[in-house]
Amino acid sequence: MSVVKSFDPNVISLLQQKIQLIKTDKGAIYLVGPIKLPVNLFGETYLFQWYCWLNCNEVTEDFERIVAKLSAANLAELQQSSVLVHGDFQQAEHALIRFHSICHTGDIFGSKRCDCGYQLKQSLKHIAEHGHGALFYLANHEGRGIGLFSKALAYILQENGYDTVDANVQLGFADDARDYGDAIQVLKTLRIKPVTLITNNPKKLEALRKAGLDVEERVQLWGDVSEYNEKYLKTKIERSGHFKEGDACCDND
Ligand SMILES: [Zn+2]
Repeated sequence: MSVVKSFDPNVISLLQQKIQLIKTDKGAIYLVGPIKLPVNLFGETYLFQWYCWLNCNEVTEDFERIVAKLSAANLAELQQSSVLVHGDFQQAEHALIRFHSICHTGDIFGSKRCDCGYQLKQSLKHIAEHGHGALFYLANHEGRGIGLFSKALAYILQENGYDTVDANVQLGFADDARDYGDAIQVLKTLRIKPVTLITNNPKKLEALRKAGLDVEERVQLWGDVSEYNEKYLKTKIERSGHFKEGDACCDND
C-alpha cells in the first residue's frame, strides 16, 4: 500500500521542530514534545511538559515519512507510552523519576484492588512539589505486562484463592514480563544527570542501574492500604521481592 501523501510544508516544519529520533537496537524511537499540559492534582493546577513516543523499524531523519505512515498504522489499536516532565528536568540536581506501569482499573476507574491510582497521583504531586522530575507512563505494562484481558482472567483466579503471582503463572505468563528499555532510552535523551527513583520495587531499581543509569537515591511510595488490596500488597512483598514499608510496597509498581 502506498503511504505517499502530500503534506502542507508548514505542517511538516512545525512537527519537525518537536520530533527527535532516538536510535535503538530494533530500529528507532520517535519522541515528540514538549507539549504544554496543565494537570489538575488535588484541585491545584501544575504545569507539565508532555512527550509521547512511538517505536518504528524505519530509522529516518525525514519525519515526513513517519507522519505519512500514521493514518494507516491503526495506532489506536496499539499502545503508546508517554512522559510528563516538570521543572528544569534536564539540568536540575535531584530530579524525581517515576516509572508508572499503566493500570486501566486502578488509574482510570480508581479500583482499590491495587494501589496504582494512588501511586500515580501521589507521584505527580511529589514531582510537582519537589520542583523537578518526570513520570513515565508505560502503556505496554498492563497487569505487569500480561495485558488487560489477561488481567481480567487473573482477577477471576484471584477471586478464587490464587494470589497475584500464581494467577499470572497459571495463565502461562511470567510473573513480571515488563521491559523498561525504551523508557530508559527516552529518559537518557531528556536527562543525563543522576535521578532519584520513586518506587517500592527493587526490580525497577535494578533495571535502571543495569541500563547504566545513575540512580542516586530511592524514595518510597506507600499508602491507600485497604481491605481490598491488603492481600495483594502482602503478596508483592512476600513473593515479588518488593521492599516493605519503611524498608518499602505494591502490584504494578
Ligand atoms: Zn493496579
